Amino acid sequence: MPVTRYWCQWAWITGAAVADVLVTVDNGRFTAVDWPVPSAAVPADATRLSGLTLAGLANSHSHAFHRALRGRGSDVAGTFWTWRDAMYRVAARLDPESYRVLARAVYAEMALAGITCVGEFHYLHHGPHGAPYDDPNAMGAALLAAASDAGIRITLLDTCYLTSTVDGQPLAGPQLRFGDGSATAWAQRVSALPAAPGHRIGAAIHSVRAVPEAQMPAVAEWAASNAAPLHVHVSEQPAENRASLVHYGRTPTAVLADTGALGPHTTAVHAVHLTDADRAALGDSGTTICVCPTTERDLADGLAPTSSLLDAGCEICVGSDSHAVVDMFEEARGVELHERLRTGRRGLFAPAYLVAAIAGVGHPALGWPDAGYIGVGARADLATVALDTIRTAGCHPDEAVFAATAADVRHVVVDGRVVVRDGRHLLVDEPAHDLAEAIAAVLP
Ligand SMILES: [Zn+2]
Repeated sequence: MPVTRYWCQWAWITGAAVADVLVTVDNGRFTAVDWPVPSAAVPADATRLSGLTLAGLANSHSHAFHRALRGRGSDVAGTFWTWRDAMYRVAARLDPESYRVLARAVYAEMALAGITCVGEFHYLHHGPHGAPYDDPNAMGAALLAAASDAGIRITLLDTCYLTSTVDGQPLAGPQLRFGDGSATAWAQRVSALPAAPGHRIGAAIHSVRAVPEAQMPAVAEWAASNAAPLHVHVSEQPAENRASLVHYGRTPTAVLADTGALGPHTTAVHAVHLTDADRAALGDSGTTICVCPTTERDLADGLAPTSSLLDAGCEICVGSDSHAVVDMFEEARGVELHERLRTGRRGLFAPAYLVAAIAGVGHPALGWPDAGYIGVGARADLATVALDTIRTAGCHPDEAVFAATAADVRHVVVDGRVVVRDGRHLLVDEPAHDLAEAIAAVLP
């Protein structure tokens, strides 16, 4: 790959928007970042990027197939649990081939939104009734291939899912496809997933509902011995907490802490319904929190106490989770806006922290500590947002996270490769058409 140079009208460096920045990329890495380089002095071979250029964005929590439910069933009264029934009906229809097609289009939507790396929390492992495919990792392989097709990196957070309730009831119906029988069998299967450029294999404990306490250490130990990130859904719904208190006499966070599952390589997803002791345990252990504001509002989950978690010592990243929306700017400002609703106060998260949530915190949480910032040596991921659209016109570049949407992303570079140019995906010709067809195939 030849040396490439980009001149950024504005670039996000050292926690702020800086004008007139020239970045040099060689072999997928930034090799120089210089400023100010006035417009008149820009080398002729440099690509000029108008607007604000951020490091590529990390979507730290995704279930790709949930995208099929956007705008389908939003008018149905119910709860998280009735939505889950609809989600299971989609899961029941997918096979490796159809999932690759659907996920490719979903990841193309992510690339167009400036996302250069996705954390795919993957539990749809096996065939109908739980029978393994000839390749027991066929579904995971489909997701890895889909990310490559769409030009983004992926951390496949292969998820251990063993029971249907906190008190250990067996899997039933569509859930049979999620189960490996034991954490040991899960680890054996996951260990066979191949490594490849742009792919990383991580681990996940689905939740206290799906992994008994006695099985959790094996998952945590697999993650530790493979230097892999470990993610886990925590206290998304009050019913999970109630069941945990009845069965274990402890909150989900306390159970995870007691099994050694918390720590600086762990990310707790949602963390909505927490006690003071839970917040302290998460903060003291250095656990990262991934909140998913648009999904948490869509599924009536509640408001995560993010500023309290920040005070406790946690870092915060974000994910689009069920993909009710794929827009990391909406997720980022959702962190602050939800806290305004919860606390009655404004300005709890500075715009610079919200930018960190979608880049500098998310990539390390997915096992890519060399991504998420524009600096010499980092992976050359860029996401350029136009500042002259009807939504962003007039905003200060430092506060663009409160104005921009995914539709304002114009240029995306992943590991030095241009994936989106002038708002068009270069690897997937018609992503909207592909997405519609893939969804129609699983939700006629
Ligand atoms: Zn999730």
